[in-house]
Amino acid sequence: MIDSSNAKSYPLVVIGAGAGGLVVAIGATKAGKKVLLIEKGNYGGDCTNFGCIPSKSLIASANSAATTKEGRDLGIEVFSETIQANKSLSRVRKIVAEIRSHEDPEALNKLGLETLTGTAKFEGPYVLRVNEEIIRAKQIVIATGSSPFIPIIKGLDKTPFLTNETIFELKEIPKSLVVMGGGPIGCELAQAFLRLGSKVSLIHSHILLLNKEEATTQEVIAAQFKSEGMALHLGIGVKEVTYHDGQFQFFLDNGQKIESEALLVSVGRKPNVSSLNLEVAGVNYTDKGIPVDAYGRTNQSHIWAVGDVIGTPFFTHWAENQARSVLTSLILPFSFKKKIDRNQSIPRVTYTDPEVASIGLSEKEASQQYNIATYTVPFSQVDRAITTGQTEGFVKIVTKKWSSKILGCTIVGPRAGEMLGEISLAMYAGIPLRKLSALIHPYPTYNGAIRKAADLWLTQTILPIFKRKK
Ligand SMILES: Cc1cc2nc3c(=O)[nH]c(=O)nc-3n(C[C@H](O)[C@H](O)[C@H](O)COP(=O)(O)OP(=O)(O)OC[C@H]3O[C@@H](n4cnc5c(N)ncnc54)[C@H](O)[C@@H]3O)c2cc1C
Repeated sequence: MIDSSNAKSYPLVVIGAGAGGLVVAIGATKAGKKVLLIEKGNYGGDCTNFGCIPSKSLIASANSAATTKEGRDLGIEVFSETIQANKSLSRVRKIVAEIRSHEDPEALNKLGLETLTGTAKFEGPYVLRVNEEIIRAKQIVIATGSSPFIPIIKGLDKTPFLTNETIFELKEIPKSLVVMGGGPIGCELAQAFLRLGSKVSLIHSHILLLNKEEATTQEVIAAQFKSEGMALHLGIGVKEVTYHDGQFQFFLDNGQKIESEALLVSVGRKPNVSSLNLEVAGVNYTDKGIPVDAYGRTNQSHIWAVGDVIGTPFFTHWAENQARSVLTSLILPFSFKKKIDRNQSIPRVTYTDPEVASIGLSEKEASQQYNIATYTVPFSQVDRAITTGQTEGFVKIVTKKWSSKILGCTIVGPRAGEMLGEISLAMYAGIPLRKLSALIHPYPTYNGAIRKAADLWLTQTILPIFKRKK
């Protein structure tokens, strides 16, 4: 039994200084609570250090390289095909450092937030150990995030493979790279490294890339990757990996053998539950995460959990949204406690080129529940896209047939993530698609495609009725 009589006591302790933990800890401090924030690694968590920020910074360089190479399509002649992109990696680290400086202990302490660096482990339901320090807390928020899932493949553990936690530390763009995993992280980084000069092979056990998206989306992305020279090995597993003299060798299920200088493993994520000693606190969990109630509480009502640690989907905006609800419950009187908004659809964006953005139900999912209609506009019919030469992709909106209530949307194209905002708002506010037909959209914009999709409600669904009556 641990002696916690000399322990420091806090009304609120937050474990993990990532997207979710920072929202709760900073918000509660600003509301006047005494808060301790515990972080074992880099403040800012995955998003700032190993996720959104480094990947999107690298993608910006990669897209710039592609635009330079594609100059001819816009009437520009480029006389060198050679891209030297090693500096893009140091640029990534500079951007990460800049953003992390707003989230490091020095910046947080200035706000009045206490920080402690080390791994937090439960010693009891209200007691934590960090290094040699014992901490008592009335309320605890677990926001420990997730880590890369490493599959069991013969030989893999004996190789110097990369994950999202190490790939941004590379000093040079590898000559060749195998990416294992064709989900959002794998697709984004495979295309980025390809555009920055690596010879890239992508191995994915599913026959379709981005297999949570609409089939048409997957076709556009696979075609784009192939057209840029990526080798796709889809519906194929890896039997064995070896590493000798700076070269990886991959023995695939279908008998094929491929080689590369570097390997990125990005086949999924696992919630960070194991380092916490949750059994001692009596907190239920599985390897899929910590289950929480409608308010974000675990089975121990003074212990809350937010973000990746509660399980899929793994998004910064979802972690932050949960954290805002938990924060409200923690700082306001009990009767104001706030449920996590599970009715609102969570937008998903994959930052490939073209970008993939989606929300709500796919056509297949919607058709299993409702009488539906779909309205699709290819960017090849959108003037803004024609002027920029970026005509790949489409806007597809799924609605209930007659009411035109929006059930889901997929946008594949330039700035799709930004465009999705209009549909997110319409779904959140209950605005049917037909009303977006009357909204004045500036011309020429990519969002004009949404108005065109809304117009299709008239031409595809309503006008045929009048034609029949004539
Ligand atoms: C390559 C990549 C790209 C991504 N891109 C996007 C994107 O574009 N958009 C998007 O929305 N999402 C993206 N994500 C997902 C996003 O990063 C996560 O969903 C988000 O960071 C989750 O926030 P969190 O607070 O739950 O966890 P994190 O931000 O990971 O924070 C958890 C923190 O807890 C700390 N910790 C863990 N255990 C302990 C312990 N026992 N004691 C003390 N500290 C502990 C960790 O060190 C970490 O700092 C991406 C992820 C990856 C890997």
